Parts: sequence; C-alpha cells; structure tokens
Amino acid sequence: MNYFAMIWLTPQERKHSFMPSYIDLHSHSTVSDGTLAPAQLVAHAAALGVRVLALTDHDDMSGLAEAQEAAQQHGLALVNGVEVSATWNGATVHVVGLKVNPGYAPLVEGLASIRQGRYRRAESIAAGLEQAGIPGGLEGARRYAGRDIISRTHFARFLVERGYVKDIATVFKKYLTRGKPGYVEHRWASLEEAVGWVTGSGGVAVLAHPGRYGLGRVNLLRLLTEFRELGGCAIEVISGSHAPWQHRQFAQFAQQFGLLASVGSDYHGPGHNTIEMGRLPELHSGCVPVWQEWEEAVKLH
Ligand code: AMP
Ligand code: MN
Ligand code: MN
Ligand code: MN
Repeated sequence: MNYFAMIWLTPQERKHSFMPSYIDLHSHSTVSDGTLAPAQLVAHAAALGVRVLALTDHDDMSGLAEAQEAAQQHGLALVNGVEVSATWNGATVHVVGLKVNPGYAPLVEGLASIRQGRYRRAESIAAGLEQAGIPGGLEGARRYAGRDIISRTHFARFLVERGYVKDIATVFKKYLTRGKPGYVEHRWASLEEAVGWVTGSGGVAVLAHPGRYGLGRVNLLRLLTEFRELGGCAIEVISGSHAPWQHRQFAQFAQQFGLLASVGSDYHGPGHNTIEMGRLPELHSGCVPVWQEWEEAVKLH
C-alpha cells in the first residue's frame, strides 16, 4: 500500500494493513493477463504467507490443474476460480466464480465463446490503433498473450514496450478506454449467463470490484439487486482495485444487501498491483466472509 493510500485509513485499518492476510480470492496467471505462470503464482503466494488462494483467470480455467499441483507441493489450498467478463446495462462487469467445477460443460463452452469474441475484438482494437498511427498492434499484443486469451493488458504492454506511453495506466487513459482510438465496444456474456454458468457448476458467484465500474449510486443499487436476484451471493469488499474508502462503502453494501463479502488482491504479477498478495486489509467485522463455511478456511483458525 502506498503512502497516499495510507493517509485515508482509519487507525484500525492502518494497523491491519501491516498484518499478513491468509486469504486471497482473486488472482491472474499467464493463462490470462498475469505475468507469472500458474505454478509460479502459487509459489509466490505461499512465500508471502497466503494459505487459501483462488486462481481466477479472465474467461479461462486452463491454469487450474497446474495451480492445484503446485498448491499441493506448497501446502496451500487452491480454490478453483475464474473471472467471467459480462455486459450489464451497456457496462462491462466482472463476475468471479469461486469453487467452480472446471469440467461443467456450459461453463467451459460459455468461456470458449467469450474467448472467440476476444479474438475478433483484438482485431478491431489493432485496427483502431493503426488508424491512430500505431501499426503492428495485433502481433505485438499476441507476443505478450499466453495461451488462449488476448486482452487490453497485452496491447498495453506492447504500447509501453514501443515507447508510445510511459506506463500501463497512461496507455489505458490515452488509448484503451471509451472514446479512445483503441477502444472497441464489445458484448460479453450477459450477467444472467455469467452467474448461471458459475452457480450451475456448483460455484459461488461474486461480483468483482464493484467500485471500479464508475456506476452512479442508482445504477450500482440496480446492479447489486439484479445480481442477487440472478443467484449472485457475494461481492468483493476488499479489492486491489478499490480505494480504502470503497472498502468501507462496500462493506456497508454487503451488509445492506445480505451479500457475503470476498477479498482479493486482483494480482497480476510483481510490480503490476496496488496491493501485494498476503497484505490485504482485514475484512470489516460486520461482514460475513464468503469463505465462512469453507473447510479449507476453517482450518486456519
Ligand atoms: P479486457 O478484459 O481485455 O478488457 O482487459 C481488462 C484488464 O485490463 C483488466 O482485467 C485489468 O487487468 C486491465 N486494466 C483495465 N483498466 C486498467 C487501467 N486503468 N490500468 C491498468 N490496467 C487496467
Ligand atoms: Mn486483468
Ligand atoms: Mn476484473
Ligand atoms: Mn481480475
């Protein structure tokens, strides 16, 4: 946590921000847009004191087997997860599935169709960048992409490499967000599909980083209401994508909506995060943790 974030914390939150945290339910590997391979990610998490880790690659579960094997070696509990891209009311939202069944056909097929959409979108992103005087984007992004997923992060890394911008945050601001040359409107899965695939597989549907969507209060309340009606049962309260004041805000929303609370760094690799793994602020005491009845988490107490 950086200095500017620290000054927004209450004294209790400041104390907890230096304490190790054992649970991290949102992370990425090279299968999507992380920089560590699944086994490396697990080793890194274990070294930092994480005991229960969910691997939640974007729209792809193909890293789970490797991560499970590494987790056994490191004595860490690996939760099978995924982060599903969805479109709700014209906005992109992310649904994290925890304890999903990686063999459940509707989920496997649904994710495959999202990945297909990603290829077509990548071609359009590259065309937009080319018009803005940046050629070779598709090949450039592909070099950063791992197995099957191509994302804006891979384009961002290519643009930084070529010196068009100084860092990843600036690439998103100047090129990859709505209204900018490399931004493409895209239809992902519907919220209903995303939640249905996850819960149908026996998993828990968690609304990822609800503070990141830039929704006003009215739309945010609508989203939480619909998400719950569709079978969603938790929201991320503590997230690497949230500012400290949002931790408090979403702790309140979770309680108000009767939703369970999840915590996750949204880890993308060393140097690619606002919060390091194993250093998450503690969940607010009024929230019911999503892992409350999980066997692997009970063992921690
Ligand atoms: P995509 O799913 O292809 O649209 O890419 C979304 C990914 O881009 C997210 O999962 C983040 O990892 C990354 N991302 C989105 N916005 C930003 C930002 N402003 N700065 C850095 N990374 C971002
Ligand atoms: Mn990402
Ligand atoms: Mn996300
Ligand atoms: Mn994520």
